Amino acid sequence: MLLVESDGKALLRHYGIAVPEGLVISDATWAPPQAPRVVKAQVTVGGRGKAGGVALCRDAAETQAALARILGSSIKGHAVHACLVEAPATGRECYLSIMLDAGAGALRVTFIAEGGVEVESHALTPALTRLCAPDEASITAALAALTDDAAVREVGARLATLFLREELMLAEINPLFVGPCGAIAGDAKLVLDGNALHRQPGQESLLRANAALYPDALRKLDEGFDYVELDPKGSIGLITTGAGLSMMLVDELTARGAHPINFLDIRTGQLRGSPARLIRVLEWLSEHPSLRVLFVNIFAGITDQREFAQLLAAALQAQPCGGVPVVARLVGNGSEEARAWLAAARPDIAIFEDLEPSIARVAEYAA
Ligand code: GDP
Ligand code: MN
Repeated sequence: MLLVESDGKALLRHYGIAVPEGLVISDATWAPPQAPRVVKAQVTVGGRGKAGGVALCRDAAETQAALARILGSSIKGHAVHACLVEAPATGRECYLSIMLDAGAGALRVTFIAEGGVEVESHALTPALTRLCAPDEASITAALAALTDDAAVREVGARLATLFLREELMLAEINPLFVGPCGAIAGDAKLVLDGNALHRQPGQESLLRANAALYPDALRKLDEGFDYVELDPKGSIGLITTGAGLSMMLVDELTARGAHPINFLDIRTGQLRGSPARLIRVLEWLSEHPSLRVLFVNIFAGITDQREFAQLLAAALQAQPCGGVPVVARLVGNGSEEARAWLAAARPDIAIFEDLEPSIARVAEYAA
C-alpha cells in the first residue's frame, strides 16, 4: 500500500535521505510563519500536483489561503484531512525510483534528470532505466550506469538500503531536487508490501499512528482477510470469496452502472465453522446508509456450501443490515443441497445458480 507523503518522508529521513523541514497541519486556523511554504495534501494517491493538491506559497497569507482551500477538499476522490507544510526546496527536478518488477523477476532502477509532474511523458529508454538483482551492490551499480552525479548516487545507495530492509514494492522520489547544496527529496511515494507487514513491526506502528489513512491495511492485519472500501456511497454490499472472482464481480457490476460498496475476499476456508467474519463484514456494510442490497457470490470448489449457507443465515440473523434484500448465488461443493436448505430457512432470499440472473436481480434492487 502507498504511504502518505509525510510517512514516506519520515522513512526517508530515518535512512539518512534529506527531506525539507515540514509540519503536518490539519487545522486551517493554524498561523503559518511569514516565509515561503509549500502546502501539500496528504492523501494516498499520486498526481496531486496536477489535481490541485500542491500549492507553492510566497508568504503566510498565501499559505493560509492554500490550507483553507485544500483542507477538507477532495483530491482524486480522497478527502484531505491534513496537509504537509514545508520549506520549499530548490534545484533541478529529477526522478529516482527503485521498484519490484514482478514480470522481469528483478528490481528496476530508474533515474531521469528531467523529473517533475510531466515525467510520464518520457519514453523509458535503456539510458534511463536498468534491471538488477535485489541487493545493494547491484542497485548501486545500476544507478551508477544511469548517472554520474555523486549526490544522486548517495541518495540511491540509502534508498537501496531502505527498499531492501523495509521490503518495499516501490520507492519513488519525484521530484528529487538536485542543486549545488546536494540532493533533497521533494516527494516520497513508498509502497509497502502488505504481505511483509508481519515481519515489519516498525511499519505496523507507522500505519497505526495514522489509522484513518490506512483502513484497508489495518483491517487485513486485524481480521486476517481482505475488505477494501471502493465507494462509501455505493448501494451493493458484496459477500464474496477469492480475489480474482471478487474483482471480476466488481467489474461486471461497475460495467452495468451499478455501485458496489466494497471488494471482499473473505476466505471461506478460514471461516472454521463460525459466522464471526461474516458478521464483521455485515457490520461494516450496515454503516453505509446507501446500502440497498447484499450480494452473496460464493463460487468455490472445496468450501462446503451447506455449511456456508448455515453460517450465512446465522450471520444475517445477527446483523440483518436493516433488512435490505439479499441475493445469493452459491455454486460448488454441495451447493444444490445448500440452495434448497437456504430457500427453506430464508424464503425471502433470492437464490441463484447462474451469475447473469443473480446480477440482474441485484441491479433491480440497487436501482
Ligand atoms: P505529486 O503530484 O503527488 O507527485 O506531488 P509532488 O510532491 O511531486 O508535487 C508536485 C510538483 O509540485 C512537483 O513536481 C514540483 O514541481 C512542485 N513542488 C513540490 N514541492 C516543491 C518544493 O519544495 N519546491 C518547489 N519549487 N516545487 C515543489
Ligand atoms: Mn511527485
